[in-house]
Amino acid sequence: MTNSYDVLVIGAGFAGVTAARELSHRGRSVLVLEARDRLGGRTWVDHQLGLDLEMGGTWVHWLQPHVWAEITRYGIEITQSPPAEQAYWHAGGTVRHGSADELLVKLDPGMIATLADSRDYFDRPYEPFLRDNLDDFDQQTVLDRIAALNLPPDEDELVRGMWALNFNAPPQVAGLTQALRWCSAASGSWQLLFEACATYKLKHGTRSLINAMAADTDAEIRLHSAVNSVTRTATGVDVRTASGQRFTARDVIVTLPMNALSGIEFEPGLSALKQAAAAEGQASRGVKTWVKVRGEVDPCYLLGGPDLPLTFAQPEYKVDGDTVFVAFGPDGIRVRPDDVDAVAKAIAVWRPDFDVIDVAGHDWVGDPYSRETWPMLRPGQLRQLRDLQQPEGGLHIAGSGYGTGWAGFIDGAIESGLRTARRLIAGGAPA
Ligand SMILES: Cc1cc2nc3c(=O)[nH]c(=O)nc-3n(C[C@H](O)[C@H](O)[C@H](O)COP(=O)(O)OP(=O)(O)OC[C@H]3O[C@@H](n4cnc5c(N)ncnc54)[C@H](O)[C@@H]3O)c2cc1C
Repeated sequence: MTNSYDVLVIGAGFAGVTAARELSHRGRSVLVLEARDRLGGRTWVDHQLGLDLEMGGTWVHWLQPHVWAEITRYGIEITQSPPAEQAYWHAGGTVRHGSADELLVKLDPGMIATLADSRDYFDRPYEPFLRDNLDDFDQQTVLDRIAALNLPPDEDELVRGMWALNFNAPPQVAGLTQALRWCSAASGSWQLLFEACATYKLKHGTRSLINAMAADTDAEIRLHSAVNSVTRTATGVDVRTASGQRFTARDVIVTLPMNALSGIEFEPGLSALKQAAAAEGQASRGVKTWVKVRGEVDPCYLLGGPDLPLTFAQPEYKVDGDTVFVAFGPDGIRVRPDDVDAVAKAIAVWRPDFDVIDVAGHDWVGDPYSRETWPMLRPGQLRQLRDLQQPEGGLHIAGSGYGTGWAGFIDGAIESGLRTARRLIAGGAPA
């Protein structure tokens, strides 16, 4: 068995598996080294609470061209989350109950105003650097933008809650340009963006797609293979694993999340901007948890401000007469995904009558191979993104957080894997 390949890919999430497939189909010898015992990275179907539940990435949409092309290619079936009819919203210390539409109408003015200029700055979502003078603008947070709107207090609180949900982080660390880029990818509509984020999912789970993609590659994929060093040499790269294996190649594609990049020692070190990005890390540090509530609950939204431990929840499944909600909060330390008491208290903010029986989730922020949930840029990081997308000799960085359009999503991971593979196939031409 040879230890020398054309390309080494580190990580078997959607970015790594996409790049490996593309390169192997073009005749390159490719080895994928994955630290975990499974494919999929931040997408993972685990059997919990009597159901196959998505611990990580879940929802997809036809607005997301790269993931939708893969769904079409492999004939993957789609299903829908139950459409909410009712809503409970917590603002100003009280809970209101109304229709889901009433809540959306309440959010509308603030969300529209927050995102009003998304198409002015990012008129072509796949060319985020089209306008050259974004550095000062990029320093703004989503919170700065909302504060300048002078919304009525309850609308202000709920809009801040929506952005804590979207960033899986407090809105004071949320980069405004990231929010505008997302909205531009959704053709300037926040409601379409919301639909894209939490409506349609893969009927047999994200593993149905990653498995189909992995089965369609001639690349070799090795699990249980954590990489701990990448050295650039005169002829290419030399990669070593924690268990002491050594591999060489002309090129390496590193698909680690930004917050996990420091898990690998790079020699020579990464560029100054890449190092700054890895040291600061991107914004998400929240929690996704599944919550089993006794009895049948009709589809509804639970929404609140960013200071709540959980800011959003919606029922996803009914099982044996009980209801399983999916819920999100901006701080994964404040609420652990598997802490029944903390989650029950957080849900009681809206519905003290709910009897929380059990919870399940994965601590992505504490996980050494992710250190983050879905990648969302902080203020000032758009400049770093441009640099992160640039190769250094035979070293290329790919992944959802380095995507151009739907960055942060499964779509962004596939897009980034495609671009990076294309660059290598074209012999270094710009991706
Ligand atoms: C809770 C949560 C909810 C989400 N919800 C959605 C959603 O609904 N819709 C959506 O589109 N997206 C969602 N996302 C985001 C989406 O899942 C990710 O953006 C996407 O899956 C990332 O793919 P990737 O290949 O870039 O990175 P990853 O999936 O993180 O892949 C990187 C791989 O590198 C491996 N690795 C790390 N370190 C090493 C090492 N040293 N050596 C070898 N291998 C290593 C990791 O194990 C991992 O497999 C969510 C993410 C989370 C966590």
